[in-house]
Amino acid sequence: MIDRARLAELLDRERGAFRARNPLSAAAYERARAHLFGGVPMTWMNKTAAGFPLYLAEARGARVTDLDGHEYVDLCLGDTGAMAGHSPKATVDAVAERFSRLGGATVMMPTEDAAWVGAELGRRFGVPFWSFSLTATDANRWAIRLARAVTGRPKILVNSYCYHGSVDEVLLVVGADGAAVSREGNVGAPVDPTVTGRVVEFNDLPSLERELAFGDVAAVLMEPALTNIGIVLPEPGYLDGVRELTRRHGTLLINDETHTFSAGPGGCTGAWGLDPDIVTIGKAIGGGVPSGGYGLSAEVAARVEGMSGLDLVDMGGVGGTLAGNALSVAAMRATLEHVLTDDAFAAMSALAARFADGVQEVIDRHALPWSVTRLGARAEYRFTSPAPRNGGESNAAGDPDLDDYLHVYLANRGVLLTPFHNMALMCPATTEADVARHHEVFAAAVAELTG
Ligand code: PMP
Repeated sequence: MIDRARLAELLDRERGAFRARNPLSAAAYERARAHLFGGVPMTWMNKTAAGFPLYLAEARGARVTDLDGHEYVDLCLGDTGAMAGHSPKATVDAVAERFSRLGGATVMMPTEDAAWVGAELGRRFGVPFWSFSLTATDANRWAIRLARAVTGRPKILVNSYCYHGSVDEVLLVVGADGAAVSREGNVGAPVDPTVTGRVVEFNDLPSLERELAFGDVAAVLMEPALTNIGIVLPEPGYLDGVRELTRRHGTLLINDETHTFSAGPGGCTGAWGLDPDIVTIGKAIGGGVPSGGYGLSAEVAARVEGMSGLDLVDMGGVGGTLAGNALSVAAMRATLEHVLTDDAFAAMSALAARFADGVQEVIDRHALPWSVTRLGARAEYRFTSPAPRNGGESNAAGDPDLDDYLHVYLANRGVLLTPFHNMALMCPATTEADVARHHEVFAAAVAELTG
Protein backbone atom coordinates (compact mmCIF):
# COMPACT_ATOMS: atom_id res chain seq x y z
CA MET A 1 0.00 0.00 0.00
CA ILE A 2 2.75 2.44 1.03
CA ASP A 3 5.48 2.87 -1.56
CA ARG A 4 8.53 2.17 0.64
CA ALA A 5 11.02 3.83 -1.71
CA ARG A 6 8.94 6.98 -1.74
CA LEU A 7 8.63 6.85 2.06
CA ALA A 8 12.42 6.53 2.42
CA GLU A 9 13.01 9.44 0.06
CA LEU A 10 10.50 11.69 1.83
CA LEU A 11 11.85 10.78 5.27
CA ASP A 12 15.33 11.66 4.10
CA ARG A 13 14.13 14.99 2.75
CA GLU A 14 12.28 15.84 5.97
CA ARG A 15 15.25 14.90 8.17
CA GLY A 16 17.46 17.16 6.06
CA ALA A 17 14.96 20.00 6.43
CA PHE A 18 14.83 19.38 10.19
CA ARG A 19 18.62 19.65 10.49
CA ALA A 20 18.66 22.84 8.46
CA ARG A 21 15.81 24.35 10.45
CA ASN A 22 17.22 23.63 13.92
CA PRO A 23 20.92 24.60 14.09
CA LEU A 24 20.80 25.75 17.72
CA SER A 25 19.17 22.54 18.96
CA ALA A 26 21.68 20.51 16.94
CA ALA A 27 24.60 22.44 18.43
CA ALA A 28 23.25 22.13 21.99
CA TYR A 29 22.90 18.39 21.50
CA GLU A 30 26.48 18.16 20.23
CA ARG A 31 27.81 20.08 23.24
CA ALA A 32 25.88 17.91 25.69
CA ARG A 33 27.46 14.73 24.36
CA ALA A 34 30.62 15.40 26.34
CA HIS A 35 28.76 15.47 29.64
CA LEU A 36 25.53 13.52 29.37
CA PHE A 37 25.25 9.79 28.91
CA GLY A 38 23.87 9.40 25.41
CA GLY A 39 23.98 13.17 25.03
CA VAL A 40 20.62 13.68 26.75
CA PRO A 41 19.31 14.23 30.29
CA MET A 42 17.60 10.82 30.14
CA THR A 43 18.35 8.23 27.49
CA TRP A 44 14.74 8.01 26.25
CA MET A 45 15.16 11.55 24.91
CA ASN A 46 17.09 9.92 22.08
CA LYS A 47 13.74 8.69 20.81
CA THR A 48 13.63 11.31 18.11
CA ALA A 49 12.39 10.82 14.59
CA ALA A 50 14.92 13.27 13.20
CA GLY A 51 18.18 12.17 14.83
CA PHE A 52 18.46 14.77 17.60
CA PRO A 53 15.98 16.33 20.01
CA LEU A 54 14.55 19.81 19.80
CA TYR A 55 15.69 21.88 22.78
CA LEU A 56 13.04 23.64 24.81
CA ALA A 57 13.07 27.40 25.22
CA GLU A 58 9.55 28.12 26.50
CA ALA A 59 6.23 26.39 26.98
CA ARG A 60 2.85 27.86 27.82
CA GLY A 61 -0.57 26.25 27.55
CA ALA A 62 -0.66 24.12 24.42
CA ARG A 63 2.35 25.86 22.83
CA VAL A 64 6.05 25.13 22.93
CA THR A 65 8.91 27.24 21.54
CA ASP A 66 12.26 25.66 20.77
CA LEU A 67 15.77 27.08 20.97
CA ASP A 68 15.69 28.09 17.31
CA GLY A 69 12.57 30.15 17.93
CA HIS A 70 9.98 27.91 16.25
CA GLU A 71 6.59 27.72 17.90
CA TYR A 72 4.70 24.43 17.98
CA VAL A 73 1.19 23.25 18.64
CA ASP A 74 2.07 20.73 21.33
CA LEU A 75 -0.08 17.62 21.05
CA CYS A 76 2.57 15.63 22.92
CA LEU A 77 2.11 17.48 26.20
CA GLY A 78 5.00 15.70 27.85
CA ASP A 79 3.44 12.31 27.06
CA THR A 80 0.60 13.26 29.44
CA GLY A 81 2.72 14.97 32.10
CA ALA A 82 1.41 18.28 30.78
CA MET A 83 -2.21 17.26 30.17
CA ALA A 84 -3.11 20.31 32.27
CA GLY A 85 -1.24 22.45 29.70
CA HIS A 86 2.21 23.90 30.25
CA SER A 87 2.52 26.00 33.40
CA PRO A 88 -1.19 26.49 34.06
CA LYS A 89 -1.64 29.69 36.05
CA ALA A 90 -3.38 28.17 39.07
CA THR A 91 -0.60 25.61 39.48
CA VAL A 92 2.15 28.17 38.97
CA ASP A 93 0.55 30.44 41.59
CA ALA A 94 0.19 27.61 44.11
CA VAL A 95 3.77 26.47 43.53
CA ALA A 96 5.10 30.02 43.87
CA GLU A 97 3.09 30.51 47.05
CA ARG A 98 4.43 27.29 48.54
CA PHE A 99 8.02 27.43 47.34
CA SER A 100 8.66 31.17 47.37
CA ARG A 101 6.31 33.04 49.71
CA LEU A 102 5.71 30.39 52.39
CA GLY A 103 8.86 28.44 51.59
CA GLY A 104 9.54 24.76 52.06
CA ALA A 105 9.45 22.09 49.43
CA THR A 106 10.78 19.17 51.41
CA VAL A 107 10.58 19.46 55.16
CA MET A 108 9.50 15.99 56.39
CA MET A 109 6.23 17.54 57.60
CA PRO A 110 2.79 17.14 56.03
CA THR A 111 0.70 20.05 54.78
CA GLU A 112 -3.08 20.13 54.70
CA ASP A 113 -3.11 20.09 50.90
CA ALA A 114 -2.37 16.35 51.01
CA ALA A 115 -5.66 15.34 52.65
CA TRP A 116 -7.53 17.63 50.25
CA VAL A 117 -5.89 15.86 47.31
CA GLY A 118 -6.63 12.44 48.84
CA ALA A 119 -10.29 13.36 49.24
CA GLU A 120 -10.53 14.67 45.68
CA LEU A 121 -8.80 11.63 44.17
CA GLY A 122 -11.14 9.48 46.28
CA ARG A 123 -14.16 11.32 44.87
CA ARG A 124 -12.91 10.84 41.34
CA PHE A 125 -11.51 7.30 41.44
CA GLY A 126 -13.63 5.71 44.16
CA VAL A 127 -10.81 4.41 46.39
CA PRO A 128 -10.56 6.36 49.65
CA PHE A 129 -7.03 6.02 51.10
CA TRP A 130 -4.14 7.64 49.23
CA SER A 131 -0.36 7.75 49.48
CA PHE A 132 1.81 9.90 47.26
CA SER A 133 4.85 9.40 45.08
CA LEU A 134 6.73 11.56 42.61
CA THR A 135 6.28 9.28 39.61
CA ALA A 136 3.78 6.77 38.31
CA THR A 137 6.54 4.18 38.27
CA ASP A 138 6.96 4.48 42.01
CA ALA A 139 3.19 4.47 42.58
CA ASN A 140 3.10 1.14 40.74
CA ARG A 141 6.14 -0.27 42.52
CA TRP A 142 4.70 0.49 45.94
CA ALA A 143 1.21 -0.69 45.06
CA ILE A 144 2.76 -3.98 43.89
CA ARG A 145 4.65 -4.38 47.17
CA LEU A 146 1.49 -3.84 49.20
CA ALA A 147 -0.42 -6.29 46.99
CA ARG A 148 2.26 -8.92 47.55
CA ALA A 149 2.28 -8.24 51.27
CA VAL A 150 -1.48 -8.62 51.78
CA THR A 151 -2.00 -11.60 49.49
CA GLY A 152 1.22 -13.43 50.37
CA ARG A 153 1.57 -14.23 46.66
CA PRO A 154 4.66 -13.61 44.54
CA LYS A 155 3.52 -12.73 41.02
CA ILE A 156 2.09 -9.75 39.17
CA LEU A 157 0.05 -10.25 36.00
CA VAL A 158 0.03 -7.67 33.22
CA ASN A 159 -1.18 -7.33 29.63
CA SER A 160 1.21 -7.92 26.77
CA TYR A 161 2.84 -4.70 25.50
CA CYS A 162 1.67 -2.75 28.51
CA TYR A 163 3.84 -0.06 30.01
CA HIS A 164 3.70 0.86 33.68
CA GLY A 165 7.12 2.45 34.07
CA SER A 166 10.45 0.71 34.59
CA VAL A 167 8.90 -1.79 37.00
CA ASP A 168 10.85 -5.07 36.83
CA GLU A 169 7.85 -7.36 37.21
CA VAL A 170 5.97 -6.03 34.20
CA LEU A 171 8.63 -6.10 31.47
CA LEU A 172 7.41 -9.25 29.76
CA VAL A 173 5.22 -10.06 26.78
CA VAL A 174 3.35 -12.99 25.27
CA GLY A 175 5.91 -14.62 22.93
CA ALA A 176 5.39 -16.12 19.48
CA ASP A 177 4.44 -19.52 20.91
CA GLY A 178 2.07 -18.01 23.48
CA ALA A 179 4.47 -18.37 26.42
CA ALA A 180 5.69 -15.40 28.48
CA VAL A 181 9.10 -13.97 27.53
CA SER A 182 11.18 -11.06 28.75
CA ARG A 183 10.53 -7.90 26.77
CA GLU A 184 13.15 -7.40 24.08
CA GLY A 185 15.99 -5.16 25.23
CA ASN A 186 15.04 -5.28 28.93
CA VAL A 187 17.94 -3.69 30.81
CA GLY A 188 19.52 -5.45 33.79
CA ALA A 189 16.59 -7.53 35.01
CA PRO A 190 17.26 -8.85 38.55
CA VAL A 191 15.71 -12.18 37.55
CA ASP A 192 13.96 -13.36 34.41
CA PRO A 193 10.62 -11.51 34.61
CA THR A 194 8.74 -14.75 33.96
CA VAL A 195 9.79 -15.72 37.51
CA THR A 196 7.97 -12.74 39.02
CA GLY A 197 5.24 -12.07 36.49
CA ARG A 198 2.56 -13.51 34.28
CA VAL A 199 1.28 -11.95 31.08
CA VAL A 200 -1.77 -12.31 28.86
CA GLU A 201 -3.18 -10.39 25.92
CA PHE A 202 -5.68 -7.60 26.59
CA ASN A 203 -9.30 -8.57 25.83
CA ASP A 204 -8.48 -12.25 26.43
CA LEU A 205 -10.48 -13.55 29.40
CA PRO A 206 -9.83 -17.29 28.84
CA SER A 207 -6.05 -16.73 29.08
CA LEU A 208 -6.51 -14.55 32.13
CA GLU A 209 -8.55 -17.27 33.80
CA ARG A 210 -5.92 -19.88 32.95
CA GLU A 211 -3.09 -17.79 34.44
CA LEU A 212 -4.99 -16.76 37.58
CA ALA A 213 -5.85 -20.40 38.24
CA PHE A 214 -2.20 -21.00 39.23
CA GLY A 215 -3.14 -19.22 42.46
CA ASP A 216 0.14 -17.29 42.69
CA VAL A 217 -0.91 -13.89 41.32
CA ALA A 218 -1.00 -11.11 43.93
CA ALA A 219 -2.40 -8.50 41.56
CA VAL A 220 -3.40 -7.79 38.01
CA LEU A 221 -1.84 -4.45 37.11
CA MET A 222 -3.50 -2.97 34.05
CA GLU A 223 -4.61 0.08 32.17
CA PRO A 224 -8.39 -0.15 31.60
CA ALA A 225 -7.52 0.66 27.97
CA LEU A 226 -3.99 0.12 26.68
CA THR A 227 -2.34 3.41 25.77
CA ASN A 228 1.30 2.55 25.31
CA ILE A 229 1.03 0.43 22.18
CA GLY A 230 -1.45 2.66 20.44
CA ILE A 231 -4.81 2.86 22.15
CA VAL A 232 -6.54 -0.48 22.56
CA LEU A 233 -10.05 -0.23 23.93
CA PRO A 234 -11.72 -2.92 26.04
CA GLU A 235 -14.40 -4.97 24.31
CA PRO A 236 -17.87 -5.07 25.87
CA GLY A 237 -17.83 -7.22 29.01
CA TYR A 238 -14.03 -7.53 29.18
CA LEU A 239 -13.44 -5.30 32.20
CA ASP A 240 -16.38 -6.85 34.07
CA GLY A 241 -14.83 -10.22 33.32
CA VAL A 242 -11.45 -9.10 34.67
CA ARG A 243 -13.07 -7.93 37.88
CA GLU A 244 -15.08 -11.12 38.28
CA LEU A 245 -12.07 -13.38 37.64
CA THR A 246 -9.70 -11.45 39.91
CA ARG A 247 -12.25 -11.61 42.75
CA ARG A 248 -12.86 -15.30 42.20
CA HIS A 249 -9.13 -16.06 42.36
CA GLY A 250 -8.30 -13.82 45.33
CA THR A 251 -6.18 -11.51 43.15
CA LEU A 252 -6.19 -7.74 43.64
CA LEU A 253 -6.96 -5.47 40.70
CA ILE A 254 -4.79 -2.38 40.22
CA ASN A 255 -5.95 0.16 37.63
CA ASP A 256 -3.06 2.30 36.39
CA GLU A 257 -4.82 5.51 35.36
CA THR A 258 -1.66 7.47 34.52
CA HIS A 259 -2.60 7.80 30.83
CA THR A 260 -6.25 6.70 30.91
CA PHE A 261 -6.89 9.75 33.10
CA SER A 262 -7.68 11.25 29.68
CA ALA A 263 -11.01 9.40 29.76
CA GLY A 264 -12.44 11.85 32.27
CA PRO A 265 -11.96 13.49 35.67
CA GLY A 266 -11.81 10.03 37.30
CA GLY A 267 -10.10 8.29 34.40
CA CYS A 268 -11.68 5.12 33.05
CA THR A 269 -12.43 4.04 36.62
CA GLY A 270 -14.77 6.99 37.06
CA ALA A 271 -16.05 7.14 33.47
CA TRP A 272 -16.93 3.46 33.26
CA GLY A 273 -17.86 2.79 36.89
CA LEU A 274 -15.00 0.35 37.52
CA ASP A 275 -14.30 -1.06 40.97
CA PRO A 276 -10.56 -1.73 41.37
CA ASP A 277 -8.84 -2.50 44.69
CA ILE A 278 -6.03 -0.03 44.03
CA VAL A 279 -5.67 2.90 41.62
CA THR A 280 -2.28 4.27 40.60
CA ILE A 281 -1.61 7.53 38.83
CA GLY A 282 1.21 9.96 38.05
CA LYS A 283 2.31 12.54 35.51
CA ALA A 284 -0.60 14.94 34.89
CA ILE A 285 -2.03 15.40 38.37
CA GLY A 286 0.78 17.76 39.42
CA GLY A 287 0.35 20.04 36.43
CA GLY A 288 4.00 19.46 35.49
CA VAL A 289 5.45 19.21 39.00
CA PRO A 290 6.61 15.66 39.82
CA SER A 291 3.76 13.88 41.57
CA GLY A 292 1.87 10.62 41.67
CA GLY A 293 -0.07 8.45 44.02
CA TYR A 294 -1.80 5.20 44.78
CA GLY A 295 -5.22 4.87 46.32
CA LEU A 296 -6.34 1.84 48.33
CA SER A 297 -9.86 0.57 48.79
CA ALA A 298 -11.07 0.54 52.39
CA GLU A 299 -10.76 -3.23 52.39
CA VAL A 300 -7.16 -3.32 51.17
CA ALA A 301 -6.19 -0.53 53.57
CA ALA A 302 -7.72 -2.48 56.46
CA ARG A 303 -5.94 -5.66 55.41
CA VAL A 304 -2.56 -3.90 55.25
CA GLU A 305 -3.12 -2.23 58.60
CA GLY A 306 -4.18 -5.54 60.12
CA MET A 307 -0.91 -7.23 59.24
CA SER A 308 1.78 -7.46 61.84
CA GLY A 309 5.44 -7.15 61.02
CA LEU A 310 5.13 -4.89 57.98
CA ASP A 311 7.54 -1.98 58.15
CA LEU A 312 5.56 0.77 56.46
CA VAL A 313 7.48 3.53 58.19
CA ASP A 314 11.16 2.90 57.71
CA MET A 315 13.04 0.35 55.63
CA GLY A 316 10.15 -1.79 54.37
CA GLY A 317 10.43 -0.68 50.79
CA VAL A 318 7.44 1.63 50.54
CA GLY A 319 8.45 5.25 50.57
CA GLY A 320 10.57 8.00 49.12
CA THR A 321 11.98 10.92 51.06
CA LEU A 322 10.49 13.53 48.77
CA ALA A 323 7.18 11.69 48.16
CA GLY A 324 4.18 13.77 49.19
CA ASN A 325 6.35 16.85 49.69
CA ALA A 326 4.64 20.18 50.23
CA LEU A 327 5.44 21.50 46.75
CA SER A 328 4.19 18.41 44.98
CA VAL A 329 0.89 18.26 46.88
CA ALA A 330 0.34 22.01 46.46
CA ALA A 331 0.71 21.50 42.71
CA MET A 332 -1.66 18.51 42.73
CA ARG A 333 -4.27 20.42 44.68
CA ALA A 334 -4.21 23.45 42.40
CA THR A 335 -4.22 21.33 39.26
CA LEU A 336 -7.16 19.20 40.36
CA GLU A 337 -9.11 22.08 41.89
CA HIS A 338 -8.68 24.64 39.12
CA VAL A 339 -7.24 23.13 35.92
CA LEU A 340 -8.15 19.49 35.24
CA THR A 341 -11.70 20.04 36.44
CA ASP A 342 -14.82 18.12 35.44
CA ASP A 343 -15.71 20.91 32.99
CA ALA A 344 -12.24 20.98 31.45
CA PHE A 345 -12.47 17.30 30.54
CA ALA A 346 -15.71 17.80 28.62
CA ALA A 347 -14.09 20.41 26.38
CA MET A 348 -10.87 18.41 25.95
CA SER A 349 -12.82 15.30 24.95
CA ALA A 350 -14.89 17.24 22.43
CA LEU A 351 -11.69 18.55 20.83
CA ALA A 352 -10.18 15.06 20.73
CA ALA A 353 -13.33 13.82 19.00
CA ARG A 354 -12.83 16.54 16.43
CA PHE A 355 -9.20 15.48 16.09
CA ALA A 356 -10.16 11.83 15.53
CA ASP A 357 -12.87 12.74 12.99
CA GLY A 358 -10.45 14.85 10.97
CA VAL A 359 -7.83 12.10 10.91
CA GLN A 360 -10.45 9.54 9.87
CA GLU A 361 -11.49 11.81 7.02
CA VAL A 362 -7.93 11.85 5.66
CA ILE A 363 -7.66 8.07 6.08
CA ASP A 364 -10.94 7.61 4.18
CA ARG A 365 -10.00 10.07 1.45
CA HIS A 366 -6.89 8.02 0.64
CA ALA A 367 -8.54 4.65 1.39
CA LEU A 368 -5.67 3.83 3.76
CA PRO A 369 -5.83 0.68 5.92
CA TRP A 370 -5.27 2.80 9.05
CA SER A 371 -7.41 3.49 12.10
CA VAL A 372 -7.77 6.18 14.74
CA THR A 373 -8.87 5.43 18.30
CA ARG A 374 -9.90 7.89 20.99
CA LEU A 375 -9.99 7.71 24.75
CA GLY A 376 -11.54 10.93 26.05
CA ALA A 377 -9.01 13.72 25.51
CA ARG A 378 -6.48 11.43 23.77
CA ALA A 379 -6.50 10.05 20.24
CA GLU A 380 -3.98 7.96 18.36
CA TYR A 381 -3.61 6.67 14.82
CA ARG A 382 -2.37 3.23 14.01
CA PHE A 383 -1.34 1.76 10.67
CA THR A 384 -3.85 -1.05 10.61
CA SER A 385 -7.61 -1.36 10.29
CA PRO A 386 -9.77 -2.34 12.05
CA ALA A 387 -8.11 -1.03 15.22
CA PRO A 388 -6.08 -3.72 17.02
CA ARG A 389 -7.82 -5.60 19.83
CA ASN A 390 -4.73 -6.37 21.88
CA GLY A 391 -1.11 -5.35 22.41
CA GLY A 392 0.38 -8.12 20.29
CA GLU A 393 -1.71 -7.16 17.27
CA SER A 394 -0.96 -3.50 17.76
CA ASN A 395 2.76 -4.15 18.10
CA ALA A 396 2.73 -6.17 14.89
CA ALA A 397 1.15 -3.20 13.10
CA GLY A 398 4.02 -0.89 14.05
CA ASP A 399 5.81 0.92 11.24
CA PRO A 400 8.80 2.88 12.61
CA ASP A 401 9.63 4.59 9.29
CA LEU A 402 6.09 5.77 8.83
CA ASP A 403 6.04 6.99 12.44
CA ASP A 404 9.27 8.91 11.88
CA TYR A 405 8.08 10.41 8.61
CA LEU A 406 4.87 11.76 10.13
CA HIS A 407 6.62 13.02 13.27
CA VAL A 408 9.33 14.91 11.37
CA TYR A 409 6.94 16.21 8.73
CA LEU A 410 4.64 17.57 11.43
CA ALA A 411 7.51 18.99 13.50
CA ASN A 412 8.92 20.80 10.46
CA ARG A 413 5.55 22.50 10.15
CA GLY A 414 4.95 23.36 13.77
CA VAL A 415 3.07 20.39 15.22
CA LEU A 416 4.46 18.04 17.88
CA LEU A 417 3.18 14.51 18.37
CA THR A 418 4.34 12.24 21.21
CA PRO A 419 7.55 10.32 20.47
CA PHE A 420 6.87 6.59 20.96
CA HIS A 421 3.29 7.18 19.78
CA ASN A 422 1.17 8.76 17.12
CA MET A 423 -0.68 10.19 20.05
CA ALA A 424 -2.37 13.54 20.30
CA LEU A 425 -3.56 14.81 23.64
CA MET A 426 -5.74 17.85 24.28
CA CYS A 427 -5.18 20.13 27.27
CA PRO A 428 -7.53 22.86 28.53
CA ALA A 429 -5.63 25.42 26.40
CA THR A 430 -5.77 23.46 23.12
CA THR A 431 -7.94 25.19 20.51
CA GLU A 432 -9.92 24.18 17.46
CA ALA A 433 -7.35 26.05 15.39
CA ASP A 434 -4.60 23.85 16.87
CA VAL A 435 -6.48 20.73 15.83
CA ALA A 436 -7.12 22.20 12.39
CA ARG A 437 -3.40 22.93 12.00
CA HIS A 438 -2.62 19.29 12.68
CA HIS A 439 -5.19 18.15 10.13
CA GLU A 440 -3.83 20.47 7.47
CA VAL A 441 -0.26 19.22 7.92
CA PHE A 442 -1.27 15.57 8.37
CA ALA A 443 -3.32 15.71 5.17
CA ALA A 444 -0.36 17.20 3.30
CA ALA A 445 2.02 14.52 4.67
CA VAL A 446 -0.33 11.75 3.60
CA ALA A 447 -0.98 13.33 0.18
CA GLU A 448 2.75 13.54 -0.54
CA LEU A 449 3.24 9.96 0.58
CA THR A 450 0.44 8.48 -1.48
CA GLY A 451 1.44 10.58 -4.48
N1 PMP B 1 2.01 3.98 33.90
C1 PMP B 1 1.65 4.26 32.65
C2 PMP B 1 0.33 3.77 32.15
C3 PMP B 1 2.50 4.99 31.82
O1 PMP B 1 2.13 5.25 30.57
C4 PMP B 1 3.74 5.41 32.32
C5 PMP B 1 4.73 6.20 31.48
N2 PMP B 1 4.46 6.35 30.17
C6 PMP B 1 4.07 5.11 33.64
C7 PMP B 1 3.19 4.39 34.41
C8 PMP B 1 5.36 5.55 34.23
O2 PMP B 1 5.38 6.92 34.40
P1 PMP B 1 6.70 7.64 34.89
O3 PMP B 1 7.74 7.34 33.85
O4 PMP B 1 6.35 9.08 34.93
O5 PMP B 1 7.05 7.09 36.20
